Amino acid sequence: MFIGHFGIGLGAKRVAPKVSLGMLFLAAQFLDLLWPTFLLLGWERVEIEAGITKMAPLDFTYYPWSHSLLMAIFWGFVVGGSYYLYKKRRSGALIIGICVVSHWLLDLLVHTTDLPLFPGGKYYVGLGLWNHVAVEILLESAIFIGGLVLYLNTTEATNRVGKYSFWALVIFLAGIHMANTLGPPPPNLAAIAWAGQLQWLFVIWAFWVDKNRRLKIHNT
Ligand SMILES: [Zn+2]
Repeated sequence: MFIGHFGIGLGAKRVAPKVSLGMLFLAAQFLDLLWPTFLLLGWERVEIEAGITKMAPLDFTYYPWSHSLLMAIFWGFVVGGSYYLYKKRRSGALIIGICVVSHWLLDLLVHTTDLPLFPGGKYYVGLGLWNHVAVEILLESAIFIGGLVLYLNTTEATNRVGKYSFWALVIFLAGIHMANTLGPPPPNLAAIAWAGQLQWLFVIWAFWVDKNRRLKIHNT
């Protein structure tokens, strides 16, 4: 699951209009923003294994700190709580926390039984849609397009930057998603980790987009 998480971030703008899209992207993708760093530090592990699922050539052998249910809830409190301390907005903080946990729930749909419930536990879950290619693509595209519609319904560009930077971001995300889905497996683990770190770029990009857009009248 890649683009679906960004769809959640886009759609969340409808219910948390005062929160920047950058912050919503950070929340919805937070577990996958931690993961590459945890891989580089050796705290978590993944193996490249072509064919392990029909869509993702990765065997997620150990990632309880970024991707267990308990830690997803913990990170939700950390990110939502930090936002609350900084901005003093309770509803925004709540939506941010929910976005963080939503990442785990969306991953639950697509991963095979490799998602831990808590660190050190022996139970793993995953509904395995990565082995049902058509359903997965339809579902993930629907979430992304739904989020896109909600975001466009909530905001409008205040200048050309707000318009073009937004559509460039959307096209870029869709392009990366297609490359991930159709392209060859990553050459090595370092490539996975460093490509993962590039996702911070989308967060910064989304903060920039959001600065150049405003809420539509009916949302203010
Ligand atoms: Zn994930």
